[in-house]
Amino acid sequence: MPFFETVQEIHSHYTCPSTCPAICCKIADINLDENELEILRQASKYDADKIVSCHKDREHHYKICPPCSFLEFNRCSVYERRPNICRTFPFNICDMPDVLLLFPCDLGASIFKDYVEYSNNMLKQPVPAKTIDSFEQSHCSFAIKLKEGVSIPMLVLKIDQLLPFKEYLGSIRRFQGNPEIHV
Ligand code: SF4
Ligand code: SF4
Repeated sequence: MPFFETVQEIHSHYTCPSTCPAICCKIADINLDENELEILRQASKYDADKIVSCHKDREHHYKICPPCSFLEFNRCSVYERRPNICRTFPFNICDMPDVLLLFPCDLGASIFKDYVEYSNNMLKQPVPAKTIDSFEQSHCSFAIKLKEGVSIPMLVLKIDQLLPFKEYLGSIRRFQGNPEIHV
């Protein structure tokens, strides 16, 4: 199963807590391609006109500078049309091959907690206590660090663990009989 679909299935087991003031929409650049820009333009030409055209690694793309102009009262006004990077957050693809990063926001912390259980129960490879401490500390200071531009320790996950982790989540949620575990 491709990366994007797997991440979407993992996301289906979680809900962002209502206490989070949409930090991810206010602090980081949102990168998107031409097709995603066009979809947003159809939703709101006015807000799409605020999207910046830019180059990175010689590639042309676009970015929404924070805070996102599509955010209204801490809710996404284009939720069904939001770019892929918004659909995968707090997972993030990075430059390193075969791995992805997990940001330590509230949703990332919920996913991390389940990943620790998965690693213990299924892989029989406990996540080192040092990694757990580091992630928890990052979670506590996530918003402040991101705002200050300070680097944030993130969990590095192997991409090949994503599919079995998704299947693990599916099986434990079926067993629990309650797919929505977070408010
Ligand atoms: S993805 Fe993380 S930062 Fe964004 S709204 Fe959800 S909990 Fe908050
Ligand atoms: S498009 Fe929606 S989800 Fe994405 S950053 Fe903007 S408000 Fe947030």
